[in-house]
Amino acid sequence: MAHDQLVKNFMADVIAKNQGEVEFHQAVQEVAESILPFIEENPKYKVAKVLERMTEPERVILFRVPWVDDKGELQINKGYRIEMNSAIGPYKGGLRFHPTVNLGILKFLAFEQVLKNSLTTLPMGGGKGGSNFDPKGKSDNEVMRFCQSFMTELARHIGPDTDVPAGDIGVGGREIGFLFGQYKRLKNEFTGVLTGKGIEWGGSLIRPEATGYGQVYFAQEMLKTINDSLKGKICTVSGSGNVAQYAIEKATQFGAKVVTCSDSNGYIYDQYGIDKEKLDYIKWLKNEKRGRISEYAEKFKAEYVEGQRPWGVKCDVAFPAATQNEVNGEDAKTLVSNGCFVVSEGANMPSTPEAIEVFLKHKILYGPGKAANAGGVATSGLEMSQNSLRLSWTREEVDTRLHNIMIDIHANCVKWGKDESGYVDYVKGANIGGFVKVADAMLAQGYV
Ligand code: NDP
Repeated sequence: MAHDQLVKNFMADVIAKNQGEVEFHQAVQEVAESILPFIEENPKYKVAKVLERMTEPERVILFRVPWVDDKGELQINKGYRIEMNSAIGPYKGGLRFHPTVNLGILKFLAFEQVLKNSLTTLPMGGGKGGSNFDPKGKSDNEVMRFCQSFMTELARHIGPDTDVPAGDIGVGGREIGFLFGQYKRLKNEFTGVLTGKGIEWGGSLIRPEATGYGQVYFAQEMLKTINDSLKGKICTVSGSGNVAQYAIEKATQFGAKVVTCSDSNGYIYDQYGIDKEKLDYIKWLKNEKRGRISEYAEKFKAEYVEGQRPWGVKCDVAFPAATQNEVNGEDAKTLVSNGCFVVSEGANMPSTPEAIEVFLKHKILYGPGKAANAGGVATSGLEMSQNSLRLSWTREEVDTRLHNIMIDIHANCVKWGKDESGYVDYVKGANIGGFVKVADAMLAQGYV
């Protein structure tokens, strides 16, 4: 059957079974485009309906999260955990607290997570969870009461050998602390059930930095394939949260100049570059004061553009690090026509299918999120190892392991994604590279 027809038939079934879950359809379609031709060449996966099984979660948990706000009023949110695939290890993936969270978004994230975790080479299955709770504008006490209620239900479903959640949008060190405290209280055990923990209570050095650092290590590896490096490059970053902050830090350490970052209200453009002092301010502004990025522009006399994303700013390298579908086809055309030749994704699925088409058509170095942002979960895997061993590795040791994992992920993408002309299609490389290990484990374990 022709490639297009294969994908069409497969997607018709996925769409019929998962109605209205548009982000999930989008994530599956991108993978199906690479994997279905590969499955045709390897019929053992076809007979065992491996991709059909991988697109159906092993388990979906949905629950009510009641909590009381500071005014004494009862609030009710939705809680979710998608246990997507445990073929190669316990479910592993973050929790997202954001008003847009719904089943389709979490299923897309959980599906991507399965392939991403496989790429890290570590024994981790895939999962994702969260809530439509919005931490923005809430007091610390409100966030704590919400987290305690959320964990009161979640605790019965997770465990260090079953399912190990971490952070994602809206879930940082503060939230992981409240969640861990409640888990410990309910179970009466101190165990590595969450990653992203504080360093004094079971966390790993470099975990906060890992996704952003990894995203930059991946860009550096892509640049090496054309004998180039980040030194002297002009970079744009979107977002100003956990991933963005450490992408800015590492890119700057590599000699690049980062000129933008953003939040959901707009972006700042600083032609002089975001140096260490300015980045320290962003960390304080976002992690402690919990303010808006427009305040950066006032403080450092930079430009602030309300309501827009930074992709119109001329750059060599772009690091999307905010959210899904934040780079559309038009943005991609603008980036490429302005000379951008490297895109390394920190966010999950930040580029729309139209944007990806533009990047591949122009043969730029395009590192999709499931490869380029895998450093976060890889270091979560290292946190789990340290918890099991009951010891802590040094900063240098964890960073070296992270760096080597990113080099290995890049090599795996090249192995599966390089065409006859020498161009590396990292989308295809990441999808097939991630798929094979999980698929083989599923074949070995029978029809489960
Ligand atoms: P944070 O909550 O720390 O930061 C998110 C940033 O993105 C904030 O600046 C936020 O702005 C902005 N943002 C969020 N939603 C939107 C939106 N709808 N439109 C515009 N801007 C938005 O999250 P992280 O940095 O942890 O996560 C960022 C991305 O990286 C996500 O896609 C996440 O899935 C992905 N990721 C994260 C990993 C991690 O280890 N944390 C691991 C792998 C991937 P505002 O403050 O206004 O909300």
